[in-house]
Amino acid sequence: MSQDLLRSLGVSDDARFVHDPSPDARPESGVVVSRNPATGKVIGGARLDDAAAYERVVSEAAAAFKKWRDVPAPIRGNIVRAIGDEFRKHKENLGKLIALEMGKIKAEGVGEVQETVDIADYAVGLSRQLPGLTIPSERPGHRMFEQWVPLGVVGVITAFNFPNAVWGWNAMLAAVCGDITIWKPSLLTPLTSIATERIAERVAAEMGHPGVFRMVMGTDDAVGERLVADKRVALISATGSCRMGKRVGQVVAARVGRCLLELGGNNAVIVHEDADLDLALRAVVFAAVGTAGQRCTTTRRLICHKKIADQFLNRLVGAYKSVRIGDPLAEGTLVGPLVNERAVEGFLGAVEAAKSQGGTVLVGGKRAAISGLNGHFVEPTIVKAPANNRLPIAQDETFAPILYVFTYSDLDEAIALQNGVDQGLSSAIFTEGMRSAERFLSPAGSGSDCGIANVNVGTSGAEIGGAFGGEKETGGGRESGSDSWKAYMRRQTCTVNYGGRFELAQGIRFE
Ligand code: NAD
Repeated sequence: MSQDLLRSLGVSDDARFVHDPSPDARPESGVVVSRNPATGKVIGGARLDDAAAYERVVSEAAAAFKKWRDVPAPIRGNIVRAIGDEFRKHKENLGKLIALEMGKIKAEGVGEVQETVDIADYAVGLSRQLPGLTIPSERPGHRMFEQWVPLGVVGVITAFNFPNAVWGWNAMLAAVCGDITIWKPSLLTPLTSIATERIAERVAAEMGHPGVFRMVMGTDDAVGERLVADKRVALISATGSCRMGKRVGQVVAARVGRCLLELGGNNAVIVHEDADLDLALRAVVFAAVGTAGQRCTTTRRLICHKKIADQFLNRLVGAYKSVRIGDPLAEGTLVGPLVNERAVEGFLGAVEAAKSQGGTVLVGGKRAAISGLNGHFVEPTIVKAPANNRLPIAQDETFAPILYVFTYSDLDEAIALQNGVDQGLSSAIFTEGMRSAERFLSPAGSGSDCGIANVNVGTSGAEIGGAFGGEKETGGGRESGSDSWKAYMRRQTCTVNYGGRFELAQGIRFE
């Protein structure tokens, strides 16, 4: 099945594709091996770029920018529209490839490609606007306005868990903004990345604009660090762990470059005493176990009001026991494998740490044995914190399906718990009460401190129309909808003197 899939998406005739790589090949040898996390079997391999290839891509991208920025934005939008249509056509197969290579279930793989289609649609509309402000000038006979001009070459670094959509969020906006993207994908998902880039680049080339979507695939040492430090790259948009973001942020700051960071989350759901528990249950299960806990917006902490905690936890444990774990491509599977063995070790280590810190495992906590599959499966897990709510491991983001449970009696206490971590991506409260909801969303900022705050909606599954991103160690960047496009453009404030008299601001006379 995988060979047909790779052929249908054009991966197997790409120059980077290695049909039958040695299973032991290490990226340092110039080839990365892609494995199916559900079986451990090799799907294929990809040739990696070295420093010379990197240099070629960046200088070609810089040259391509000079042409692309002159293409009117609505025409750039036409090309993005055609790319969105092509992703529509390949949605099913690309979704399958994501499931095969990354391990999320097929419905979520297809949903991921839909996000790229959605952001392409959004970018097409945007290409007819990219609006600047007109500002009244204090000087007679003067006009003042802002315009947004193309930024340049944008370096896009992506994580393994969204190997298509995170590129889409960046590349579709950057393209209508007049920028060239150079994508450095995760080496855990090289084949999805090749398929994705090929679709976009082929459409753009057929429409007369080759070289708008570029990729450099290589190790962090040979390619990643080079990209981040490169002054010719106007913006680095990096998605991944807080560890990576801290490094990237420092390197870019040292060259006074521009950075958009989308980093780790440690998202909590508060279930208040007056919550609709049916609604909360479905939302928590999806957000905590979906994608096997490998979403930046996965619910990792549950903060339950003491009055409903036992009842809600009983139902939650029941729901966890009924979740079907297995082959992400099989009908009925809700939870696939973790991406690799290292992730399984991280999961097991976190469960052990939680136990040693006084946590009680209510369900899960072990590897999951799936008949006929030799993959990286684990059981979705719930760990209850000790009565004093002290559980240091819950301060970290473990990229696996572990949900830590805390209890409270007062909403302020719950909000303090929810905000009491270093990350600030997504948050939610379940309540039927207007006062509790508004307390959580306080416009004074004393409620949730996250970039995303929901009421009666779980922490994961954002729509592309809103700005996506988080605060604190999550990095502060915003991608996707709203005015996120501004990150991909240069703002220019312009003053025009049409009155012909020499006038200075602040009434200064300089005769
Ligand atoms: P990771 O940090 O290991 O890698 C992410 C990317 O950064 C990869 O492409 C990697 O090669 C690259 N990278 C790492 N070090 C680099 C360096 N020094 N220079 C240049 N590039 C470097 O993350 P991962 O394991 O692939 O993904 C999981 C993490 O991503 C989680 O923490 C998750 O929360 C986060 N994530 C965040 C968002 C968001 O929008 N906030 C979205 C998806 C994933």
